[in-house]
Amino acid sequence: MMGLDLIFGSSVERGPKSRRIYLTFDDGPNERATPAILETLAGERVPAAFFMVGDHVRRFPMLARRVADAGHEIGNHTEHHRKLLLLDRRTVRRELESAHEAIVGETGVRPRTFRAPHGHRSIFLKSIAADLRYTVFGWTFGVFDTALPGVETIRRRVRKRLRPGAIVLLHDGDGYDPKGDRMQTALALPEIIKDARERGYEFGSLAELHNGTHS
Ligand SMILES: [Zn+2]
Repeated sequence: MMGLDLIFGSSVERGPKSRRIYLTFDDGPNERATPAILETLAGERVPAAFFMVGDHVRRFPMLARRVADAGHEIGNHTEHHRKLLLLDRRTVRRELESAHEAIVGETGVRPRTFRAPHGHRSIFLKSIAADLRYTVFGWTFGVFDTALPGVETIRRRVRKRLRPGAIVLLHDGDGYDPKGDRMQTALALPEIIKDARERGYEFGSLAELHNGTHS
């Protein structure tokens, strides 16, 4: 993927090939799914990363703060979950900076990571992410949990695709609808964690992968 990296900048799409995987939750915070997911993660002592939409952070600041207080990584996922690819430089910058300000303002945590909505990176992203000192993350696999395929299907898809170093893309929110339903993902999480542990995986924090050292 060197060619794309030259245009869009590098993004981290997996960790080192150890028995370690990385859970990530996009498009929150969300009033129902985020607390449920936090509860499972706390009970199982599993770290995760949450790539938040700035507009949702402003709407649900207490939830954003709960994620931060639990010690999970908080990433920037733009202000309005817009596909960056065709936007002009000024708009891309505003999407990143607004979400950055929302996260810092509401949680007190300075995000260090960014993930592009739908993976649509922009030619302007590299310099803007560098200005904000972000590591840009992609993912190893997703399971289309946003299509609400059912709790058991979400669980099974994750189990099938697990591999060393995988960055797993899941969703605790809907990028557009602040009331979107992501409870299937929340309900699948306990079994996802159990399945991974049975296969000898442990859970890492994306902080270990900052700056693309393992990309
Ligand atoms: Zn998203």
